[in-house]
Amino acid sequence: MGKTEIHFPGLDQLFEVYADLERQVAELKRGAGIECLRRCTFCCATSKFVEASIFEMLPLSLHFWEEGRGQETLEKLEGIHPDAPCILLNPNVPDELSGGCSYYRFRPLVCRLFGFSATVDTNGKPSIALCAPLKELDSGVSERVNKKIRKDLSFPLMTDFSRKVAMIHPPLGEEKYPINIALWEALELVRQKIHFSKTGRRKT
Ligand code: SF4
Repeated sequence: MGKTEIHFPGLDQLFEVYADLERQVAELKRGAGIECLRRCTFCCATSKFVEASIFEMLPLSLHFWEEGRGQETLEKLEGIHPDAPCILLNPNVPDELSGGCSYYRFRPLVCRLFGFSATVDTNGKPSIALCAPLKELDSGVSERVNKKIRKDLSFPLMTDFSRKVAMIHPPLGEEKYPINIALWEALELVRQKIHFSKTGRRKT
């Protein structure tokens, strides 16, 4: 399949939101002095908490079909249990990497937010959502980071980014599924688009 044959509206906007998030995460990491542990796969391995929308999985799905791996990946996901670990996780992480995502640049929003974003309570007080391994290594880390973000360190707000991404394409972006299911749905949607583009029938 050619690279530009199939389009979905909003994907450029999605990557603009991701770029903005990346800048904010980098600033938070620098200011708070926090970073992922080397070769850690904890977040990805607890897959039942990793949820994504079909829209967020479209870039990777398009990539798989472009690479000629769409059908094979659909088959791999067929009937997969919703709690199964993310199929994109490579448990044998190379030494130079901090995580095991095989398709890091296509990862969905939650994988970009987790560990380096905050929630705000009804009184407007932010709290950082750090991962368990960082907290186990340093029991005072949450308190220290919270002090900084409650003072003047900027941070990405989880709900803000979730809303921004969902609003780019509400029909495909609002509902979240376990990541493997979202990927299956997105691959299937791209498959149908390819099919209809070949047969010349319109699909809305
Ligand atoms: S998409 Fe990548 S970062 Fe997200 S859970 Fe899967 S392996 Fe981990």
